[in-house]
Amino acid sequence: MNTVGQLIKDAKKIVIKIGSNVLSDETGVVSKDRMHSIVEQINTLIEAGKQVVIVSSGAGSCGVGAIKKWHRRADINYKQALCAIGQVELMMAYKEYFSDYGHHVGQILLTSEDFADPNRALHIRNTLSTLLDEDVIPIINENDSVCVDEIRIGDNDTLSARTATLWSADLLIILSDIDGLFDKNPKIHSDAKLIECVESAERIRNEVTMDGQSSFGTGGMQCKINAAIKVNAYGIPLVLLNGKKPDIIRDAVAGTAKGTAFLSKL
Ligand code: GLU
Repeated sequence: MNTVGQLIKDAKKIVIKIGSNVLSDETGVVSKDRMHSIVEQINTLIEAGKQVVIVSSGAGSCGVGAIKKWHRRADINYKQALCAIGQVELMMAYKEYFSDYGHHVGQILLTSEDFADPNRALHIRNTLSTLLDEDVIPIINENDSVCVDEIRIGDNDTLSARTATLWSADLLIILSDIDGLFDKNPKIHSDAKLIECVESAERIRNEVTMDGQSSFGTGGMQCKINAAIKVNAYGIPLVLLNGKKPDIIRDAVAGTAKGTAFLSKL
């Protein structure tokens, strides 16, 4: 078994971040099939005795899918309104799919202020524990409709890293639309190689910047490396997998699919 598979197998408390690009199809509309498949794989992890906290993006894209307008509006109030609409759609879909496996879901919407305030952070932790002890799946997103720059986390890679450290998870899995971290941009270089194991996320971050690009082909690789630095500092490894591939989590555990493992030295 490869490192990625072993990390998932060994972890008891797992945060899984699901990106908008994973949930959306080519037109930006949420792919219910993919979402259903991810829910099914998460259920397999739960049946194997693991506790899972989901950090899900997709409020914005679900909002566009539901109301079919405003997607070109740049004004913040329309963007936040779309998230308010889409968050309901997102949770309705999770509720429906998890109920197929007998699970309830609980929604937690957070801002950076909630993590910064020790009292609120304690309540987040207590709510997570209570939900999980009662076999309810917590699903977290940023509270996009109330966020102004001052209290904004901004991206769900960071939100998932903060959640993993707050909950003292054993592992953070980020499901993205890329197979993992490559030694060069795979969209430009056909000989780009997947890096299966990163011993120092900090060093890799410097190399990515030196490459002259903000990322290896996706908008968010820097955010993922930063998330790895954050969780690795708390002894939590991070696994990056391509959530667009069917059965990716199951295949990673079986050792038949690859991704990138960011290891913690602690
Ligand atoms: N919170 C945003 C949403 O649900 C997504 C943020 C992100 O993808 O990083 O639409």
